[in-house]
Amino acid sequence: MTQPQVAIVTGGATGIGWSIAKELSDHGWEVVVGDLDEQAARRSCGQQSGTHPAHVDVTNLDSVQRLVDGAVRTFDRVDLMVNNAGITHIAPFEDFPTDKWDAVLAVDLKGVLFGMQTAGRQMLANGGGSIVNIASIAAERGTPGRAAYAASKAAVVSLTRTAAVEWASRGVRVNAVGPGYVMTDLIKRLVAAGEVHESDITAAIPTGRFAEPREIAAAVRFLGSQDASYITGQVLYVDGAFMANYGVTSHSKAKGSQPS
Ligand code: NDP
Repeated sequence: MTQPQVAIVTGGATGIGWSIAKELSDHGWEVVVGDLDEQAARRSCGQQSGTHPAHVDVTNLDSVQRLVDGAVRTFDRVDLMVNNAGITHIAPFEDFPTDKWDAVLAVDLKGVLFGMQTAGRQMLANGGGSIVNIASIAAERGTPGRAAYAASKAAVVSLTRTAAVEWASRGVRVNAVGPGYVMTDLIKRLVAAGEVHESDITAAIPTGRFAEPREIAAAVRFLGSQDASYITGQVLYVDGAFMANYGVTSHSKAKGSQPS
């Protein structure tokens, strides 16, 4: 009998992270669900076999190392590390508070680095594995008010490419998934605070709707699986054509026509 594959998902208690954990466990993986809020992780995992709650603060290297060590102790190895935990803060560029800059970079950038280093070392020693970092469309586009978030996500893309190149010959693949907008707590908080308007976002997405969390999760599962064995150093945007869009709405009949 083949052994189940083992994954760790950070920030896995809610939102996109939980959807990734659920998607993987639905497909037979054992998934360690690490989150700052361990109780929330427990509540989520209580409903889903194959998921295992754990505490992690991704800003703390020792804490991330404990998360990886715990998974290895229980399951002998880690096949997939998903660095998903993320926060944001909105403020005008010229007044972006330094403490908020530090806080966002600590989770969204340093947290990803720590996840890559700790899981990467284990995978290199074990002969291989896969890392999927959760980036964002904000990595590639000017994103008003989100200087720290967008800078972090652009840097996550850079970390993804650097590690992919360094580790390619040693069996560790490193990719990123860049979600478009998903209506999770992260976005609900911005909408509730009046920082963004749902209708403005929807109007900017060619598919005319937000992504479902499971649509992001499916892309993570693909990149993390052996089906993606020759894919490394890539960023897969799952964004309803947001990134492909020129940005100006067309009112001509060409909008829905076929190319000639
Ligand atoms: P949520 O806010 O719904 O979930 C984020 C999770 O990360 C929460 O469970 C949170 O815990 C946890 N977390 C926060 N800080 C830490 C930390 N220091 N250590 C461990 N866990 C932590 O966000 P989303 O699901 O929307 O976002 C997930 C990822 O997807 C993020 O990287 C985000 O940037 C990215 N993304 C999201 C998009 C969207 O539209 N939603 C679009 C593009 C990218 P707690 O609740 O206790 O703070």
